[in-house]
Amino acid sequence: MSKKLIVANWKCNPLTSNEAIKIFKSIATKYKNYTKAEVVICPPDIFLKNLLALKNKLKVGAQNCFWEEKGAYTGEVSTVMLKNMGCQFVIIGHSERRKINKETNEEINKKIIAALQNKLIPILCIGENREERDHELTFDILEKQIKEGIANLEKTKIVKIVFAYEPIWSIGSGNSANPKQIKEVKNFIINLIAKKIVKENISNIKILYGGSVNGENTNAYFTEAEMNGVLVGGASLKPEEFAKIIKSA
Ligand code: PEP
Repeated sequence: MSKKLIVANWKCNPLTSNEAIKIFKSIATKYKNYTKAEVVICPPDIFLKNLLALKNKLKVGAQNCFWEEKGAYTGEVSTVMLKNMGCQFVIIGHSERRKINKETNEEINKKIIAALQNKLIPILCIGENREERDHELTFDILEKQIKEGIANLEKTKIVKIVFAYEPIWSIGSGNSANPKQIKEVKNFIINLIAKKIVKENISNIKILYGGSVNGENTNAYFTEAEMNGVLVGGASLKPEEFAKIIKSA
């Protein structure tokens, strides 16, 4: 069985490079002896260089990227730059970016294509809001986000994408989705992707859950919901709590 993938999304935290190094080192020390999980830390870009220089078992990713390689795109960071720096993963289409930065599925698709072209593993975030779930629109929303997010990609590229199901109502709310809801979504994603790739590759598709994940609830996501990993926000900045999540793998 492949290793669980545990991804830390630090969002716009912490405030200084020293703090980032301290948290990163603390996680690395606690994680040293675990072999059943692949752990990826996604800090703000400004801390990437210092964290990558620490060289340990932790992998490093970015929280966003731009689709063009270089040029007159003020404020953007390209997938080539991230790859050259040593990143291996990039989170794309997080709901906070979809909402605050008004990112569209079309832009997200361009970012996914650029990431794959430059050998970064994209973590495509998808998820419905409270109202959409209450109106039973969850699967319509997910289908649109997935179909448009992975448009124009060859079968062999689609299998490299990590899908992160992050219901918006569960992010940062303490109100995590239950394993039954999550498994339902996992099956839905698999069925949708199965139509687009070679059948033998289905078992290689990785699907994560994200939304108020903590040391107590993670185990159920692995055992009951059979998720391939988790995407962790708030708890990933607390090394003790994050270590419990890693241990659940
Ligand atoms: C996230 O923002 O990706 C996330 C899952 O946040 P939290 O764990 O804090 O709910």
